[in-house]
Amino acid sequence: MTDTDTPTPASPSAADAAGRSFNELPLSPAMKANLEQLGYLTMTPIQAASLPIALAGQDLIAQAKTGSGKTAAFGLPLLTRLNPRHFGVQAMVLCPTRELAEQVTQEMRRLARFQDNIKIISLVGGTTMRPQRASLEHGAHVVVGTPGRIMDHLERGSLNLEGLNTLVLDEADRMLDMGFHDDIVFIAKQCPKERQTLLFSATYPDAIVRLARQFLRKPQEVKLLERHDSAKIRQRFYEVKHEERLQAVAILLKHYRPVSTLAFCNTKQQCRDLLDVLRAQGFQALTLNGDLEQRERDQVLIQFANRSCSVLVATDVAARGLDIEQLEAVINVDVTQEPEVHIHRIGRTGRADEEGWAFSLCSPSDMRRVAAIAQIMGSEPEWHGLGALQSGNQAALVPPMVTLQILGGRKDKIRPGDVLGALTGEAGLTREQVGKITVTDQTTYVAITRNIAREAVRRLSEGKVKGKSVKVRVLAG
Ligand code: ADP
Ligand code: MG
Repeated sequence: MTDTDTPTPASPSAADAAGRSFNELPLSPAMKANLEQLGYLTMTPIQAASLPIALAGQDLIAQAKTGSGKTAAFGLPLLTRLNPRHFGVQAMVLCPTRELAEQVTQEMRRLARFQDNIKIISLVGGTTMRPQRASLEHGAHVVVGTPGRIMDHLERGSLNLEGLNTLVLDEADRMLDMGFHDDIVFIAKQCPKERQTLLFSATYPDAIVRLARQFLRKPQEVKLLERHDSAKIRQRFYEVKHEERLQAVAILLKHYRPVSTLAFCNTKQQCRDLLDVLRAQGFQALTLNGDLEQRERDQVLIQFANRSCSVLVATDVAARGLDIEQLEAVINVDVTQEPEVHIHRIGRTGRADEEGWAFSLCSPSDMRRVAAIAQIMGSEPEWHGLGALQSGNQAALVPPMVTLQILGGRKDKIRPGDVLGALTGEAGLTREQVGKITVTDQTTYVAITRNIAREAVRRLSEGKVKGKSVKVRVLAG
C-alpha cells in the first residue's frame, strides 16, 4: 500500500462541539426527521467532532470509549453517500466480534429507516455461509461483519467490493488485540483505492497509528480524552509489595464490601492466580478470557451483570466493550503502563447517579506509572495504607442474587415477560425477588434473590412457562 500519510492533528475541539443539534449538518430532511424520531436530539461529543469531517469525505481516526455513539458517527456519513438504486456493496464495516457486528447492524438499520430499500446485512461466523451468500446475491448496500467471515466471502468470490465507497474499522484496537491485523490488511487491499476510510478505536496505542498509516489518506484525528466526574469516582492508591497484591485484593473486598467489582490484571496468568486466591476465600468470582467459548463468555457476563457474581477478573483485552450498569468498584490489581487505559478502566464505575470506588495496588516499581497517571488526571494520588483496613475475620461477601438457568429461549418463543409471569404467578414470588431476565437463543437466565433460589427452582420446575413445563437449574458460579 502506498497511500501513506501521517495523521494531521487538526480536529476541532470536541468539547466545543458537544451538545449541538444534528440540524447544522448537511443531512437530508428525511434523515433529520428519522434522527428526531429515534430520540437523537443533540450530537454526542464524538459525533459532533467526527461528523463534519466524515460528511466532507475525509478519512478519519476517532478515539472514543464504548457507549459514546460511534455507530452514528460513521453510519450517517456512509448512509448519506449510498445510491439506493445501485444494488451493490457500497460500504463495509469491520467489527471485532459477532455480538458487536450484530449491534452495529441493528443500529445502522434504525439509522437507515429514513429511506426505503436500503439493505444492510451482517456477515459473521457461527452460522452457515449459504444464507449470507444468498443475501449478497440479492444485492446489499452495506455489509457489517467480522474480518474472518468477510475474508471467507472474499476468498470464495461471494463478496464483490468494486463499488465500495466507504470502509469502516470499528473498535480497531480490539480487532488488533484479537489478531486480525493481517486479515484487515488483506481486506483493505481488496477495496478500491478511491474510497473513504474511517477508523474508530477506544484506545490509541502505536499499533493503531501504524495500521492507520498503512491505508488511511491524510486522516483527520479526533480524540476525546475521557473526563470523569471525579466527585463520583473515589480513587485510592495502596502501596503493596508485589507478592502481596492478590491477598490485598481480598482485603479490599472484605473491607469495602462492594456488591460488584471489576478487577483488572495485566496478564491472563495473573487473572487465573487471583481467581484461585479469591475462590479459596469464599468469593464468588469469575474470569473472562479469550479462551472462553461464546456461550461461556455470555454466562459469565450475565452472572456478573445480574449481581450473582461479586467479582469479575479480567485483562483489558477481555473487558473491552464491557458496559456494566451498576459497578461499585474497580480494582487495578496491576497498574497499567498507559495512563489512558487507567482512566478507561476506572470510568466503568461511578456511572449515572451512583458513586464508585477505584482502588489501585502499586508496588515500588509501579511508581513511575502512577506518576504518569497522576499527570494526565491532573491531581495527586491519594495514598492509603492496607494496614488500616478492617478485614480480619470477616467472611467474603455473598452476592445478593443467584442465576437460574431455564432450558429454552428465543427459539422457543420465550420472552422475559413469560418468565416473570411464571415466577410471580404460579410460583408465588414477588416482583422484588426477581432480578434481571436474559433470554438467549436456547437458554433463559433469571436472577433470583439468593435466599429463595432453591424454592424458586422447585416451583418453576413444577409449574409451566408459556404453557409448557421447563427444566430449571441453578447456574453454578
Ligand atoms: P458506541 O459504538 O460508541 O459504543 P453506540 O453507537 O452503540 O456507541 O451508541 C450507544 C447508544 O447511544 C445507542 O443506544 C444509541 O442508540 C445511542 N445514541 C447514539 N447517539 C445518540 C444521540 N446523539 N442521541 C441519543 N442517543 C444516541
Ligand atoms: Mg460500537
